[in-house]
Amino acid sequence: MKTIWEKYDTKKRNKVMAFSQEYKSFLDHAKTEREAVDETIRLARKEGFKEFKEIKKVKAGDKIYFNNRGKSIALFLIGKDPLEDGMNILGAHIDSPRIDLKQNPLYEDNGLVLMDTHYYGGIKKYQWVALPLAIHGVVCKKDGKVIKVAIGEDEKDPVVEISDLLIHLSRDQMQKTGSKVVEGEDLNALVGSIPAKEEKDEKDGLVKKNILKILKEDYDIEEEDFISAELELVPAGKARDLGLDRSLIMAYGHDDRICAYTSLMAILESREPERTSACILTDKEEIGSVGATGAQSAFFENCVAELLAKTDSLSELKLRHCLERSCMLSSDVSAGFDPNYPSVNEPKNTAYLGKGISFNKFTGSGGKGGSSDATPEYIAKIRKILDQNKIVYQFSELGRVDQGGGGTIAYILANKNMDVIDAGIAVQNMHAPYEVASKGDIYEAYQAYKIFLKEMA
Ligand code: MN
Ligand code: MN
Repeated sequence: MKTIWEKYDTKKRNKVMAFSQEYKSFLDHAKTEREAVDETIRLARKEGFKEFKEIKKVKAGDKIYFNNRGKSIALFLIGKDPLEDGMNILGAHIDSPRIDLKQNPLYEDNGLVLMDTHYYGGIKKYQWVALPLAIHGVVCKKDGKVIKVAIGEDEKDPVVEISDLLIHLSRDQMQKTGSKVVEGEDLNALVGSIPAKEEKDEKDGLVKKNILKILKEDYDIEEEDFISAELELVPAGKARDLGLDRSLIMAYGHDDRICAYTSLMAILESREPERTSACILTDKEEIGSVGATGAQSAFFENCVAELLAKTDSLSELKLRHCLERSCMLSSDVSAGFDPNYPSVNEPKNTAYLGKGISFNKFTGSGGKGGSSDATPEYIAKIRKILDQNKIVYQFSELGRVDQGGGGTIAYILANKNMDVIDAGIAVQNMHAPYEVASKGDIYEAYQAYKIFLKEMA
């Protein structure tokens, strides 16, 4: 099978490169789920989207979004058909693996001040040491004030770091298995080493005292405020072109802002659809889609109920009809074939970088455990519209049978009795501080999402 690059002419290549510039900029501004929601709202409002509470009556052509706690968001473009007839839904997640600060993080040890952390999502912990890390998130004060924090992205900003043991003294460490080489409780970030001026009877904790002074003066943060904070350590710096031919992007957080951004662009560019278009960008996928802002929350269903209530008369049955008559692409990254590790894949059913948007009929592990399995009838409809529009796509599985596996939010929406299939973009080094994806695949996914919103019936 040919790659996308062999099929693109110069004009199309230029389009692909231009689109990837915009995507890199989104990544640089959206390094946490909260920042992704902020950036989504900024881009959506530019296209005329309004928050639901600004809308009096819902009618065809309306562009509406619901913001859930600043951590997940649902966008709708109301179609000409009744909402009860179902929607075309794009779903992706905007949380990524990272290192969270604990609620009581700060301590001093032999003249150094560190912050204790608790990692989030499935990471190889040894990959997250000896790297420049930025601090992103919010600190919520008792008076209701929310302080937004982003330290480490500007070139003049300081960064923080989790140390690794020098190779010279690693004889014992190097004997350990991968999951034990660096252990969770040892992920402590170095944040300072200058002591505050010594006062009478004061000898201990002066470096920590100095860091607290800086936090107070520069950010109005006191030590107790960490209790009501959500601070995330993420790799510092911008998304970069990868490869001498610039065909790939290396960046933090492709999983799954790559599908979030392409889905968002698809709905923002959607025009007067027959069926209502929806785009859900959820939080907490990396830890099981749990909680109020995860895909399992009642949030999305509530949004649809609110829309129905402002369209005509809401009834429980109409809500259920709308959900079960909807079609969805649950978009998430897939495991891209890696020539350095070919043995984990089965070559006929593997996603390859540069071979287009990647569909998984099912995910799960072992005997398809935990999977949502799309019906062949649904897949046939999708194939038809993709082929009609010359979209480049591939069908794959996440690795060899019995090698491992994974899941997405597909099953959660499928539980509402709608047709859902996993779609997405192949990446290398998934969940590493920097992941790799093909610019061509990003563009094909974006095209596929636009066609799905417009033509799926
Ligand atoms: Mn994902
Ligand atoms: Mn993931």
